[in-house]
Amino acid sequence: MNLLKLFINEKCPKCNKTLETKHSSILSAFVIKYCSEGHYQKEFHPSLETYIETNKVS
Ligand SMILES: [Zn+2]
Repeated sequence: MNLLKLFINEKCPKCNKTLETKHSSILSAFVIKYCSEGHYQKEFHPSLETYIETNKVS
């Protein structure tokens, strides 16, 4: 499974919009992908080869 490829193609699970990308300004070691509607956020940590999901849907 190519985790990075899956991450790049990510969409919001609620509204299906393509997630916005925000690079960490201090440490570029991780990238934040988020829904512009505030539904969903995911942090990707390339050095750890993992990601952290935050589902903001209540
Ligand atoms: Zn959304």
